[in-house]
Amino acid sequence: MKILLLGSGGREHALAWKLNQSVWTNPLFIAPGNAGTSQCGINVPLDLSDFDAIAAFCIKEKIEMVVVGPEEPLVKGLYDFFQANDELKKVYFIGPSKEGAQLEGSKAFAKAFMIRHQIPTAKYREFDISNFEEGVKYVNEHPLPVVLKADGLAAGKGVIICTTHVEAVSEFELMLQQSKFGEASKKVVVEEFLDGIELSVFVLTDGKNYVLLPEAKDYKRIGEGDRGLNTGGMGAVSPVPFATPGFMHKVEEKIVKPTIEGLNKENIDYKGFIFIGLIKVNGQPFVIEYNCRLGDPETEVVIPRLENDLVGLFVAVAKQELDTLKISIDKRPAATIVAVSGGYPGHFEKGHKIYGLKEPLPEDSLLFHSGTKEKEDAIVTNGGRVFCVTSYGKSVHEAAQKSKDVLKHIDFEDMYFRKDIGFEFAPKAGL
Ligand code: AMP
Repeated sequence: MKILLLGSGGREHALAWKLNQSVWTNPLFIAPGNAGTSQCGINVPLDLSDFDAIAAFCIKEKIEMVVVGPEEPLVKGLYDFFQANDELKKVYFIGPSKEGAQLEGSKAFAKAFMIRHQIPTAKYREFDISNFEEGVKYVNEHPLPVVLKADGLAAGKGVIICTTHVEAVSEFELMLQQSKFGEASKKVVVEEFLDGIELSVFVLTDGKNYVLLPEAKDYKRIGEGDRGLNTGGMGAVSPVPFATPGFMHKVEEKIVKPTIEGLNKENIDYKGFIFIGLIKVNGQPFVIEYNCRLGDPETEVVIPRLENDLVGLFVAVAKQELDTLKISIDKRPAATIVAVSGGYPGHFEKGHKIYGLKEPLPEDSLLFHSGTKEKEDAIVTNGGRVFCVTSYGKSVHEAAQKSKDVLKHIDFEDMYFRKDIGFEFAPKAGL
């Protein structure tokens, strides 16, 4: 099967690594990919916002399956674009329709969807410029902390947790009156703050049936002990020790099933991943957010723990036959640690040569590239998050330790990584 995978991060390297293991894959193209994905298939320099170029490539190469890694092409309607073309609508497409992708593309859409289907989530109201004054009053009277969310995609920066009313009103004004996040903050969701522990659940659905992939927890802050600025993600672990079978049963009954049934009832075309960001409050799960794709770096622990043939799973998704398959999970816990460029998530330099990448890895470790590229005969840094090391272990803590050992042998100028991924699950933490 001729497969095109779209994206260029660690998530896509992990997906490419897994797709490349399937006997069905022949060949695998990755667009645009990175220096790691080129070890699993053929990189193609396509611009993901250029739908015509993607379509022309698929027709020329007779692509039979398209797998979309990042959210943007989905939110902009790549699925619908394929459906509208007679030559492309038969291509197996892994990723939701534009409407389905609104679960991520519009916080207001996602909240209204949850309310319609009685899916537990934080209480909220939405505002735009037409009811701005009412919004200011609402924000001012809201218990603290209060959460402000730009409605649209804002590169992961659109959520602000405010601890004073002065800050909250000022952010509210910045978003709605000064277009702080451009189009994305034309509407703002004002939400109750939920105090609990977070985890991410990954669902693969064919629109009717679904399977649950391993759950994961990611580490967003740049600094150890979860301090400092937010990043795209500095590491992840799977499984999550507090996601007990009893809790996961609640997640399935109260959240996953009503989500799939809701999509069905509303006739929303959805064949792909749903990443559900959850928070556990007093033993109960609440949805913080939906994403219409897998997370990065969660994918780098979730996919290595999946034992099924990924192409086989995707074919079942495309044919709406997911009910005929059973998911098989590697019992070994996994942890991934992301190495980033010095200065990230602020200003950082690119183009530093990475040393040690060619050293053989221990049997239970994997290395996935994110911001890398080939230059002459070296591999150089090409982004904030540069690569990650995933390891299996007897516990997530031991797995993280193994990844740190691997990271000792790899280096580039100003490389930084968190040494405490999985810290709350260390034996001394008593969990
Ligand atoms: P989001 O972009 O919706 O995932 O939000 C980013 C982060 O903000 C989440 O991972 C949470 O840590 C936090 N967050 C979002 N909404 C809430 C909420 N209602 N209560 C507490 N924390 C929240």
